[in-house]
Amino acid sequence: MDVNFIEENIDKVPINFIAEKLEVDVINLCQWLRKKGYIQEIQPIEVQYIKNYMNKIPMSEIQEHLGLSKSQLEQIRERFNFLKAHRNIDEYTEEEVNYKTKWLIEEKLRFEIDDFLPKKVKNQDFSGNDLYSLLKYGEKHKKLDPYFKYFSTVAFLVCKAYPQKFKPYQFSHSPETKKFFTRKNYLKELLWILEHKLGLEEELLNSFANMHSFLTRKELNFYGLGYNVYKDIFKNKEVMVDELLKFCKIYPEVQEDSLQMLRIKLLSIGIDIERCYINGCLNKNIEIHHIAPKKIKRLIKFDIDSVFNLIPLCKEHHIIAGRLELENISVIEKEQWREYLKEWLITNHA
Ligand SMILES: [Zn+2]
Repeated sequence: MDVNFIEENIDKVPINFIAEKLEVDVINLCQWLRKKGYIQEIQPIEVQYIKNYMNKIPMSEIQEHLGLSKSQLEQIRERFNFLKAHRNIDEYTEEEVNYKTKWLIEEKLRFEIDDFLPKKVKNQDFSGNDLYSLLKYGEKHKKLDPYFKYFSTVAFLVCKAYPQKFKPYQFSHSPETKKFFTRKNYLKELLWILEHKLGLEEELLNSFANMHSFLTRKELNFYGLGYNVYKDIFKNKEVMVDELLKFCKIYPEVQEDSLQMLRIKLLSIGIDIERCYINGCLNKNIEIHHIAPKKIKRLIKFDIDSVFNLIPLCKEHHIIAGRLELENISVIEKEQWREYLKEWLITNHA
């Protein structure tokens, strides 16, 4: 802390302003000022902080951040009537649970959001940080989920907090995981990993199949689909790869699944997927167009299947939309892309 600046200004300007000038967190500044005897009373901004975070992060965390003793914090909560009733996990919202999970991982554990994360984060990270209730919530909710019930509670919580980022088998497997991996499920997930994590397209699998460097033990283990997982389904890797190629011939079924997901995403924000998005266009056979094209998905930071990147278009409009230069949309808020593309199609190519 810049003691001189503080001494000069503490009696003249608001604490928030001092924090801003010194580029420090105002709550940390209050704590420091109290310790040094510049202030005695609890500050309104601190009370506000308690109010804002009491349902988001553990109380012990708030107490530490404010630099108060447990009984001091209790007194304040009593005075301002911030006494939260002991909440049942059934009252938790999904949003709240995701917030807490992200807080734990990013703020508390300071883990990076990459594919090491599933191997690092453990049950104890939750229970050891006053978030045992999240584990209870996760345990209960994953059991009701036809997919996640086969995987660990931590996998459920983290996958929900970071949608589309991880697959639950990247985390430590649960005793149930074995039951999930039927031949079809294994191959389906393997295709997902190939495409989303290894950047390989299904079209070229035939050519990859004979390469020693294709689907190495290292890669399979890293993404949770190693020998231990497939040994009960396929005799060896050769058989597994062979089955994968056969499976791809019936791949349209799998693609159908993911196309269905894109449709559901658009429907969920109220977009009619039975009609071309261009006003007045009555063409049938509607396709789901990716505004930023799928082929660049390795180069971008967002999930290519994010709903802002989707638009239902007829075949004709779909083809023309493919000519949109990416530079045009890169400067626009993602949420505006669909409307921009629509205008672009209407003005230039109606
Ligand atoms: Zn159209």
